[in-house]
Amino acid sequence: MPLSITSYLFGGSCFVCRGAARGLLCTQCAAELPRLERPLCPRCALESPGGAICGRCLAEAPAYDATHAALAYDFPADALVHALKFRGELALAPLLAGLLAPKLAGNVDHVVPVPLSAQRLRRRGYNQAVEIARHLGKVDSGLCQRTRDAPPQIELPYAERQRNVRGAFRCTRALVGARVAVVDDVMTTGATLDEIARTLKAAGAVHVENWVVARTLPHV
Ligand SMILES: [Zn+2]
Ligand SMILES: [Zn+2]
Repeated sequence: MPLSITSYLFGGSCFVCRGAARGLLCTQCAAELPRLERPLCPRCALESPGGAICGRCLAEAPAYDATHAALAYDFPADALVHALKFRGELALAPLLAGLLAPKLAGNVDHVVPVPLSAQRLRRRGYNQAVEIARHLGKVDSGLCQRTRDAPPQIELPYAERQRNVRGAFRCTRALVGARVAVVDDVMTTGATLDEIARTLKAAGAVHVENWVVARTLPHV
């Protein structure tokens, strides 16, 4: 039975506060989600005065052309993303994709979820990026593959993340002239997405943009 009907008939509880809710979140928690507000750098989705390309992207241009993000990776967005990723709460995927969808504009030829290694996919049983991506377009899961199982980025200092993912992906077909969207749950340093964009462009893609649910903001 679809969740919305279940909660309509029996009443549900909010995933965040456990209060009464029709859907996965109560009205108040839904309203208080840490939405990313403009102005953001169009390239990396971090705050930038006037919505101009930020200094960081100007100094060292990433391989991707744009980033669209729905939420800041703060509570409760982090809890929702974590539950989808590690606790198998797949019902959160359409909710998170639904928050991202209004941010997306323009046409892409391929929607590519950030791949897991075969080993990690076997262990987890699903790829949260695929679960999100399937609500945003027709998913091209096989187009980009992970060639080796690098240590999870989260276990590494920021400076080592770029090196950790270098050469970790490959394209399974030529993408000459293609516009590609790469979907992930969280973008932190952007090292993984940068490497994927580099790989897609080496295969001929002319435009690569990131579609991420949550963006880690620098806390200073
Ligand atoms: Zn709530
Ligand atoms: Zn930027």
